[in-house]
Amino acid sequence: MKVRRLVTIDGTCGEGGGQVLRTALSLAALTGTPFGIEKIRGRRRTPGLRQQHLTCVQAAAALCAARVEGGKVGSGELLFRPGHAPVAGKYAFDIATAGSTSLVLQTVLPVLASLAAPSSVSLTGGTHNPMAPPVPFLQASFLPVLSHMGFHANVTLMRYGFYPKGGGQITCEIAPRSPGAPLDLAGRLPVTSRRAAILLAGLPDHIALRERQILLAEGGLGEEEIDTMVLAQGPTGNTVWLTAEQGPCTALFTGFGQRGKPAEQVAREALAPAAFHQASGYGVEEHLADQLLLYLAIRADGRFAVSRLNLHGSTNMEIIRLFLPVTFRLTPLEGEAVLVACR
Ligand code: ATP
Repeated sequence: MKVRRLVTIDGTCGEGGGQVLRTALSLAALTGTPFGIEKIRGRRRTPGLRQQHLTCVQAAAALCAARVEGGKVGSGELLFRPGHAPVAGKYAFDIATAGSTSLVLQTVLPVLASLAAPSSVSLTGGTHNPMAPPVPFLQASFLPVLSHMGFHANVTLMRYGFYPKGGGQITCEIAPRSPGAPLDLAGRLPVTSRRAAILLAGLPDHIALRERQILLAEGGLGEEEIDTMVLAQGPTGNTVWLTAEQGPCTALFTGFGQRGKPAEQVAREALAPAAFHQASGYGVEEHLADQLLLYLAIRADGRFAVSRLNLHGSTNMEIIRLFLPVTFRLTPLEGEAVLVACR
């Protein structure tokens, strides 16, 4: 394996959270580039590696037999040296807390979906976590766009896992990379249909009824556009999703239930960003944008218009440029919308 220079990262850069580390892990494993990071999650109230981030480190290391220094919970520094090129195969990672399974997947997927052989990954932990991509987002919004770009994966929810218990499970089947096509979502994409779904697990029915009421009264949805899924047994949790079909894109917005948070607020948490996004007329919303950047960079092509580029997005570009010789060109559009192009 070619010897590459060590990339050094200040974990307080930009967003200064877990995504700085995850993007570095993905690209280190994919390109064989060693990196050192200090002040991990330096802008968070509880800096350092938490269990979810440590599982990301272990998962990335498993793909490329990396030597890791500083890989323990609480660690503020890490040295990651890939041992060989990443290997496709069957992997299983258990976060052992309610930490987000989708964020561990976010670390390994760019690597495994870039390989010429299939892989499968089983992940245990949280499946519907606030501040992380919930499983329906992966299935409806994220993976279909990746597939267009030649990265093919299917996620199946095997068992629900909510905070604080966790214990959920997802599996991901990854097909060999294909040539795909450059992403081109530069223009406006009209919304052709909208739907909402309420998931209520082990909680009183009035929660779903109140959420439905808000979706009808404030979201302008019809009765037939709202699905309610009730899980009578198993863990307790509550989530509201709103999806908007926009040509080849599906934008998905989530409100997460939490003890003490009124049901009305959960529904409004999904409605508010959806309204902002739809007013822009563009197809890609901010979470999808920051998660697509890595794949644009791996392909070294593609462009999309995003209704708002958040700090996760600009931070991700900063980290990507440390590993890959790509440039991102940002062109301001109306309001907060931005056209992002990668070469
Ligand atoms: P930390 O604890 O350090 O904040 P973290 O590891 O939990 O870090 P972040 O660095 O904040 O994570 O990154 C969160 C990731 O989850 C980002 O890629 C963001 O786009 C994604 N994300 C957050 N909320 C949603 C959502 N509602 N839908 C889809 N993706 C989301």
